[in-house]
Amino acid sequence: MENIFSYTRPMLEDYFTNLGEKSYKATQVFEWLYDKRVSNFSEMTNLKKELIAKLESDFDNYKIKIKKYQHSNETYKFLFELSDQNYIEAVVMQHDYGTSVCVSSEVGCNMGCAFCESGRLKKVRNLNTYEMVEQLLLIEETLKIRISSVVVMGIGEPFDNYDNLINFLTIINDAKGLAIGARHITVSTCGLVPKILEFAKLPMQFNLALSLHAPDDELRSKLMPINKVYSINEVMNAIDKYYSLTNRRVTIEYVMLDNVNDSDECAFKLIKLLKGKNVYVNLIPYNETNHLEFKKTCKEKVLHFGKILQDNNITVTIRKEFGSDIDAACGQLRSKEV
Ligand code: SAH
Repeated sequence: MENIFSYTRPMLEDYFTNLGEKSYKATQVFEWLYDKRVSNFSEMTNLKKELIAKLESDFDNYKIKIKKYQHSNETYKFLFELSDQNYIEAVVMQHDYGTSVCVSSEVGCNMGCAFCESGRLKKVRNLNTYEMVEQLLLIEETLKIRISSVVVMGIGEPFDNYDNLINFLTIINDAKGLAIGARHITVSTCGLVPKILEFAKLPMQFNLALSLHAPDDELRSKLMPINKVYSINEVMNAIDKYYSLTNRRVTIEYVMLDNVNDSDECAFKLIKLLKGKNVYVNLIPYNETNHLEFKKTCKEKVLHFGKILQDNNITVTIRKEFGSDIDAACGQLRSKEV
């Protein structure tokens, strides 16, 4: 049996036409699920009894469960329990302009980045589409809010779970789904080149962020094992291709690690690498974890690094620090309930 929250509207249209039904039934079901928030087929009063029975026999509408959620200032962290007792987390950040949510895409992660807490648990499995959709539905239901933007930057490498990710993005972007504008949706990748190129060809205007974190292969391979598969050069070529196909600027994420990648020399190498490209750099203050030896670069040095880039015409933003007191910050999410 499949979960109804894994189905995009086109998939559901196919389902209905295969049954000899009109395809607009898919829109009706979507209105129940995402507008009226009714997931029991028996309550979908504009569907015939026989059709309801058929939906009930073909689809499950099980939801993942909120195990707990914590709150600190403008940040909430949700721990979800999946049907097989795996755990994932999502983080909600309230800004003046709306609410953004950072969702997980996998249980664990295989990318093995040296500085990341989330990756200490190897990948157990992909999240199904419905498990990604339901993170958002449950957050909206619990906090009685509407989510205005989504970043796929929680646990997992989204492009390592590509098909489920794209169905998730399609559903949340659908005007009859969660209707979150594509420009308010960002996927962050450690640099899986073939998927960057596939993503570039999608008709929807989703944003892309690349976790670069080092300006040369030697250092990047030490921090991010994926660099041994796709070198900086290959990733930058993919970013160029993405830009030429989409005309959308890519965000380059650069986590500031004390005495590792934060020297002036690194800044100048980064400038050389990014010169003339239509990207902007997001400097990420490192969130220290108990298990890993990396330390955060102090604020003054982050500003100094940023200024060198700016003086060389590279647009820089410094990521606001959210939620570190409840371990809800970047790289602190875990797939274990501890
Ligand atoms: N796998 C994807 C998305 C998940 S991580 C990716 O690699 O992009 C989201 C961002 O947080 C990445 O840029 C990641 O490198 C960064 N990050 C990981 N651990 C961190 C930490 N402890 N402090 C700050 N940022 C961290």
